[in-house]
Amino acid sequence: MMYDVIIVGAGIAGCVAARQMAEKGKKVLAVEKKNHIGGNCYDMKDEHGILIHPYGPHIFHTSNEVVFEYLSRYTTWRHFRHEVVANVHGEYMPVPFNLTTLEKAFKTEAARMKEKLIAAYGMGAKVPILTLMNHEDEELKRVGKYVYDNIYVYYTMKQWGKKPEEIDPAVTARVPVNISYDNGYFADKYQGLPEHGFTPMFEKMLNHENIEVRLNTEAKDILEIKEKQVYFDGERFDGKVVFTGPIDEFFDCRYGRLPYRTLRFDFEYYDTRDFQGHSVVNYTVDEDFTRITEYKQLTGQECDGTTISKEYPFAYSGMEGEIPYYSIANDENYALYAKYKKEVEDVKGFCLLGRLAEYKYYNIDVMVEKALELCEKLI
Ligand code: FAD
Ligand code: UDP
Repeated sequence: MMYDVIIVGAGIAGCVAARQMAEKGKKVLAVEKKNHIGGNCYDMKDEHGILIHPYGPHIFHTSNEVVFEYLSRYTTWRHFRHEVVANVHGEYMPVPFNLTTLEKAFKTEAARMKEKLIAAYGMGAKVPILTLMNHEDEELKRVGKYVYDNIYVYYTMKQWGKKPEEIDPAVTARVPVNISYDNGYFADKYQGLPEHGFTPMFEKMLNHENIEVRLNTEAKDILEIKEKQVYFDGERFDGKVVFTGPIDEFFDCRYGRLPYRTLRFDFEYYDTRDFQGHSVVNYTVDEDFTRITEYKQLTGQECDGTTISKEYPFAYSGMEGEIPYYSIANDENYALYAKYKKEVEDVKGFCLLGRLAEYKYYNIDVMVEKALELCEKLI
């Protein structure tokens, strides 16, 4: 057999796994159904020469030294502390909601509210919105209600088609209310973007004599599982498979389709140096899109024009061209996922890794960590 390891999907999970296995002397085949590597982190120049993220804005952030050091082998960094504002009836308010936002929203009442928030949770605390809303103090409840109404409810309805209290609380807890003056979107020690873009970082990762990459290749066309045995190009394969794609689709959705939210990105170019003065503006009380990203504000690119994207969430249907972006965390979906997982559980050498294969939301850094852990085990 020519290959020791087959990797399905060349996103961050697949690329890290491919590189790790190759460095251990394994012959690796990485197959990717798209015509490019990088998965959702892929970036490219548009027709105006502006570096964009076609699958949504990605900012690397981590407090994990090992992960930071690992990726730093393949890129230098543009250190960038991500700050987001919400457009609330035309006024820009820092998100996550924090003491600066409180002062903007409540003006003369803010000082008293601030004292109460600090007394209740402590300076520096991060409070999930659903917790704040249920505080027994009427005035803190009022703050909670304001934040819920102006930051969370409409945005979450657009993003998930459900109210904040109807989705997994861990999702809104990713953006808590901050009892501090910190306007940062993330709290991590390291924050930024690969200095020359994500794609060159992935190219460097896959550039190894033991790695062969096949683009435009759908896993199902080369891999098959029959009676708990993997077949590659019709022949028995006894190596390892690291599968990072949607596991339900690999089995032709035989138990039903795993639900996801997907996104449509509408890109617009403007002949102006600065469109919105911020990398990301969330639309939390109006519009059909959730946010506008202005790419040059993220990447630091110096150029005359500017490209933005408007982001429209909707339910994934599996139609050609749609991408499953966000798994939907609930017991019913996890039970369905468990059926697919069972299909591969005792297939020797077949591993599930990544946000699609594990049906779980992962940030880039956790994905790197998980891929490193899996490869340790496989070796
Ligand atoms: P993916 O990146 O999706 O890669 C999977 C790859 O497998 C894809 O290239 C796909 O084409 C390929 N594939 C799928 N099925 C098959 C098949 N059957 N055959 C062959 N190939 C296949 N994380 C952060 O840390 N910071 C951020 O700012 C951030 N922003 C995000 C914004 C959005 C809009 C989204 C949706 C996610 C964001 N994330 C962010 C999360 C980040 O995208 C994920 O951590 C990362 O993409 C997970 O990598 P992955 O390799 O598991 O999946
Ligand atoms: N959220 C919100 N308003 C905001 C930002 C976030 O309601 O301005 C909620 C929303 O439910 C979102 C979740 O918090 O899905 C997590 O936000 P994050 O930016 O981490 O995730 P994403 O936009 O990728 O879902």
